[in-house]
Amino acid sequence: MATKQFSYDVIVAGGGPAGSTTASFLRKQGRSVLVLEKERFPRFHLGESLLPCGGEVWDELGVSDEMKRRYIHKPGARFIHSESGLTQTYYFSEAIRPDHPFAYEVQRADFDNLLLRRSEELGAVVREETAVRDVQFDDHGVDVTIRSSDGSTEVVRSQVFVDATGRDTFLGTRFGLKVSDELVTTNLACFTHYEHCVRQTGADEGNITIVLFDGGWWWFIPFKGTVTSVGCTLQKEFTLSRKGLTAEQMFMAALEATPAMQELLQGATRVRPVDTTGNWSYRCKQFYGDRFLLVGDSAAFIDPLFSTGVLMAVTCGKYAARAIHEALLAGDCSAERFASYQQQALQGADLFKGLVHEFYARNLRPLLVRSAAHPSTCAAITSALAGDVYRPAMWQGLFREGFSERAVDSYGTQRSSMES
Ligand SMILES: Cc1cc2nc3c(=O)[nH]c(=O)nc-3n(C[C@H](O)[C@H](O)[C@H](O)COP(=O)(O)OP(=O)(O)OC[C@H]3O[C@@H](n4cnc5c(N)ncnc54)[C@H](O)[C@@H]3O)c2cc1C
Repeated sequence: MATKQFSYDVIVAGGGPAGSTTASFLRKQGRSVLVLEKERFPRFHLGESLLPCGGEVWDELGVSDEMKRRYIHKPGARFIHSESGLTQTYYFSEAIRPDHPFAYEVQRADFDNLLLRRSEELGAVVREETAVRDVQFDDHGVDVTIRSSDGSTEVVRSQVFVDATGRDTFLGTRFGLKVSDELVTTNLACFTHYEHCVRQTGADEGNITIVLFDGGWWWFIPFKGTVTSVGCTLQKEFTLSRKGLTAEQMFMAALEATPAMQELLQGATRVRPVDTTGNWSYRCKQFYGDRFLLVGDSAAFIDPLFSTGVLMAVTCGKYAARAIHEALLAGDCSAERFASYQQQALQGADLFKGLVHEFYARNLRPLLVRSAAHPSTCAAITSALAGDVYRPAMWQGLFREGFSERAVDSYGTQRSSMES
């Protein structure tokens, strides 16, 4: 039987950070790439606070200067505990390895468009308003059925398929790979944008603020200019006891329960309707198979407490591109070739997941506003908040000992031997 012609080496479904970064790194290796994106960019997206360790990827993609020009600097992360009033700020310049002392806060519509256009500049073919509808794998390649906004369908063929469809989890759903993470006790986010909030001043203006309260936690992400992204991530108990509320009513109920957040919004004007999203923490059992890889949220999504999603998406995009390039060079795109990609991806994902679990088990929660008196713990938390998670050796000690050893019973006294 004659082998069908390949249109591209790789077809990437989804033009968010995971998809565009995978495409850009594949282009740097000279691979032909088609990116299919169902929306027209720029489009709104959540995930506006970046982490410093993304800096390496921005440099390699050649977008660092443009980002510096467009976006506000984020030198740190401030945590406020609403009920006790305790506050602590972590500065990335004080991380264990302070290679990247700041990150950025970005409007994702603009940022995702910047990354997608960069992949185009590097030679990827990008088709927007074009959704992937079906994939058929065979021994030699993959046929991808796509549908354009005018309703027309066609089939394109490649050697490898990358699923970067985000929380739509195109292949994860199709192959039944998704497993939800029941240890995370939040299940809903309500979000909007405000103008003229009470921001920090000077160099601290771009800090993210996370406000912890009994019903969950808030994010406060200031953009360059006057707009600030404000949202809350709510505990199941909080949302289930208020079933039937509209998005706006749920947001207002959470605000009513959080005096510290009310202070930050004093005199501010809401400039977007309140919206919600669910589909919470999950991970696919496997991030690869014969001729395909899952990258970014299509592989795993973890509660966004530590602003980790974009870093994981772009780091894994880089790893995926390398794995695919090497597989194509070897002429073998079988699942076994991609197993090491999953191992690399999990290094960071497991650490972030461990931290999120520590938070929801309540050990890490009080420590976040009480670690200043313990420099080594404080530096470790700062490094995690900076996203320095893809070098696992650094973290082994911390997880072996566990945060419970360092935990505080309440937002008051330290109970462990750390102080002795
Ligand atoms: C409440 C909340 C707050 C968050 N806060 C942060 C934060 O502060 N910082 C951070 O780093 N991350 C945050 N995240 C996570 C972040 O949004 C994601 O991790 C990140 O966007 C993942 O990038 P991605 O490219 O994998 O997916 P996406 O950015 O979702 O991109 C996927 C793309 O695929 C397209 N697509 C889907 N299906 C198809 C199809 N069939 N065919 C073609 N295209 C398709 C979509 O239109 C989309 O553009 C947050 C997430 C949530 C829910």
